[in-house]
Amino acid sequence: MNKQPMIGVLPLMDKERDSYWMLPGYMKAIEEAGGIPVMLPLTSDKEIIRKLAGTFDGFLFTGGQDVHPALYGEEVSQACGEISGERDDMERALFAEVLKLDKPAFGICRGLQLFNVLLGGTLYQDLPSQRVSEITHVQKLPYDVPVHRVHIEQENPLHRWTGRESLMVNSYHHQGIRKLAPSLQAVGLAEDGLVEAVILPDQSFVFAVQWHPEFSYRSDDASMALFRVFVEACGGKQANQRS
Ligand code: MN
Repeated sequence: MNKQPMIGVLPLMDKERDSYWMLPGYMKAIEEAGGIPVMLPLTSDKEIIRKLAGTFDGFLFTGGQDVHPALYGEEVSQACGEISGERDDMERALFAEVLKLDKPAFGICRGLQLFNVLLGGTLYQDLPSQRVSEITHVQKLPYDVPVHRVHIEQENPLHRWTGRESLMVNSYHHQGIRKLAPSLQAVGLAEDGLVEAVILPDQSFVFAVQWHPEFSYRSDDASMALFRVFVEACGGKQANQRS
């Protein structure tokens, strides 16, 4: 890599404490992959968002609150979790800029759900009550322990990046993709068929996973490989994400 890319990390929001915060794993994994992580301000100011999009080399869309169901045409159901209108507003505007500028973006958990919704897909507001499965997708601590398998189709980018036909992943999500957005490609499926990894082939690098590599990047090579390929894409390397 010619330079250390500067990567904007979407802030986490703690409504109870009225605080912005960050999990070290998101920052440290980027740092260890050769990037410089910078936590962004939480703002819906369009001009600031345009400037951020133009300034940073790539963006990490972090986990967090549930995406507002109105963004995929549904009422808020009882089983829907906490929502953050501020994050929805900022991330919707930033994602539009990211697509326009073809900047690399990596989505984790909420990030995957957000990309799917913003591109026209829908979500299960609550997997345990809406989708029968033999897998529990909401594990208990510690979160660096893998709990279910994700199958990867041969010759797809995730296979190239990890060198694996399947991955054991952690799982800490009560929502999931219901209808996949038309422009997204599923590149990893849980054993119960739930889509757990997607790419947007129209862009140079827009990739997202439902699991949490920020908790497992130290113990699991495949988790670290995802941060590495993302940081390399932010540094200008062709990620070759087309199948
Ligand atoms: Mn899962």
